[in-house]
Amino acid sequence: MVSPPRLIQENGLRLDGRRKNELRPIKMMVGVLKRADGSAYVEMGDNRIMAAVYGPHELHPRHLQKPDRAVIRARYNMAAFSVEERKRPGPDRRSIEISKVMREALEPAIFEELYPRASIDIFVEVLQADAGTRTTGITAAALALADAGIPMRDLVAACAVGRVDGQIILDLNKMEDNYGEDDMPIAIMPRKNMITLLQMDGHFTGEEFFEALELGIEGCKHIYQLQREALRAKYSRVGETIEAGDTKE
Ligand code: ADP
Repeated sequence: MVSPPRLIQENGLRLDGRRKNELRPIKMMVGVLKRADGSAYVEMGDNRIMAAVYGPHELHPRHLQKPDRAVIRARYNMAAFSVEERKRPGPDRRSIEISKVMREALEPAIFEELYPRASIDIFVEVLQADAGTRTTGITAAALALADAGIPMRDLVAACAVGRVDGQIILDLNKMEDNYGEDDMPIAIMPRKNMITLLQMDGHFTGEEFFEALELGIEGCKHIYQLQREALRAKYSRVGETIEAGDTKE
């Protein structure tokens, strides 16, 4: 039998050179699609994810409307070319589950009661997957919601923690996800001190669980700062455009 590769080297570094508590390199862009009401593109390591938001708009068919709040709908989709072997297009059990947990992770952030009878539609398209796509998708979708101007209690920031070679590490890449022991995706609203997603694939002891949770929350807080910067960058660009427009007169 082939033994799994060692994922943490003698010097304590992971195979991609990261320390245990380090996130993969992250890039965020807000307002990248002109036809959606809000959009964002996020890279986290080799993950490439686009999120788009439509709404709030009147929900059809009407019998699906809620009289006192908006209906939030989320769809997670992996492109056929996003993984090593072509993925069969269309929804499957995994994408249906991820769509549900993404919606549940984002819903607490949205003032749904401001838009009775409306729907807010969130689309997450995974262009390239390398583990942690649900969390990267949530991070991107929160930015797209903010870009759509939807009033929010806070942004939602997400990342995963896990255990490989018996050690708790932040933000698993594909190799670590494949050969590691446990994986725990987390999403939080940092200013509200609220966890909106916590899943677990594996078995942690109580002590490991709290160590992992703390590390995951730290990771999310770092992502949150980057989200705020990405939004600021977008709106300072808009500011520049308005100023340029002003000088035309
Ligand atoms: P997440 O992407 O949120 O970590 P999973 O743990 O289910 O979700 O998946 C881990 C990784 O496994 C994905 O990011 C992707 O790289 C890979 N993967 C998932 N589904 C498929 C698939 N149908 N074909 C090939 N690779 C896949």
